[in-house]
Amino acid sequence: LFFVLGLPQQVLFFVMFPMVLAVAFVNMLVTGAVYFPAKRYLTVKGVLSDEEAVVSDHSDYVLIPSQDGQVSIEHLTYQYGRSSKKALDDVTLNINRGDFLIITGPSGCGKTTLSMALSGGIPHFYGGKMSGMVFIDGNAITQTSIADLSLHVGMVLADYDTQLVTMTVGEEVAFAMENRGYDAETIQRRTKEVLTQVHLDGLENRSIQDMSGGQRQRLAIASVLATEPSLLILDEPTSSLDPEGTEELYAIIGKLNRENKVTVVVIDDNLSASIPYANRMAVLVDGKLAYEGAVEEAMDYMYDMNTYPEALPALYTMQRRLKEKGINLGKVLKTPEEVVAALQNKEATCSN
Ligand code: ADP
Ligand code: MG
Repeated sequence: LFFVLGLPQQVLFFVMFPMVLAVAFVNMLVTGAVYFPAKRYLTVKGVLSDEEAVVSDHSDYVLIPSQDGQVSIEHLTYQYGRSSKKALDDVTLNINRGDFLIITGPSGCGKTTLSMALSGGIPHFYGGKMSGMVFIDGNAITQTSIADLSLHVGMVLADYDTQLVTMTVGEEVAFAMENRGYDAETIQRRTKEVLTQVHLDGLENRSIQDMSGGQRQRLAIASVLATEPSLLILDEPTSSLDPEGTEELYAIIGKLNRENKVTVVVIDDNLSASIPYANRMAVLVDGKLAYEGAVEEAMDYMYDMNTYPEALPALYTMQRRLKEKGINLGKVLKTPEEVVAALQNKEATCSN
């Protein structure tokens, strides 16, 4: 500038140089202020990968559950990879061997997410951010592969059709057993057994395509049962069933629970069919465990706190309304038969 344009050196030092510095300074401020919000925004939108997500390696740790149930869920908090909201928020729950637990709550409250954490889908498949821990049979899910978990946990998805992978009923039930190296004789025996358990006996050669929704659902359950899981999880199993199908399904699951000592976790918003078989209920709201306890107390909580009351069985709501009018039928009645008996009993006492 000095030699070619003949500008005096004062212009260079006292005008241009300070201007360059000023621009650099403003640049520093603006970049600093915009960088982090922009990075966060683009990560949430999925444009940038979530570099901060760290896959924890727990292999060197000794992780011990602090509750003694078959399943111990401890302060479980979970966020899907691209979501800014917690799908589960500090959930602590102990599931004992032999329990029949209902998990209920409004749509989007995290029921399916919780069931995925019980089968290892979270964190092994979905990734995301998880804190807290789930222990199955004393083993931390982060230290157990999905393959090992599947030896203990049988899961029937809400979208059970995606679980069916073969052409015929017999093949479908045999499939999981073949994968686990069962011998031919055992496969044949177990196939017969589980098909009888779900009332599909004799249908080995039936094409899956020709079956009704309810039958396919029971088939999905049979193929899960074939490998004798000690924990059976069903996500909204009755969403596509009519009332008779629903009742039949719960009768089957209830029997498995009672007679075969299978621990059952059912996610359902149709409580009337499942409560006669359940001993415990958990109510999830916005990813948090709002209540957990005996079925009767959980229903009282839902009614009293107006938490998802639309899921309560009509029979239960009726008893509460009667009670408010001064007619107390005693303990919570779960089936129409129990109500009839209680009313007759009441009539007898009244006439006495
Ligand atoms: P529920 O089964 O009770 O209806 P979910 O467990 O499916 O609830 O969902 C809980 C929350 O997690 C919801 O806010 C839902 O939008 C979110 N969610 C579910 N699945 C995913 C996913 N694969 N990726 C991101 N967010 C998800
Ligand atoms: Mg769901």
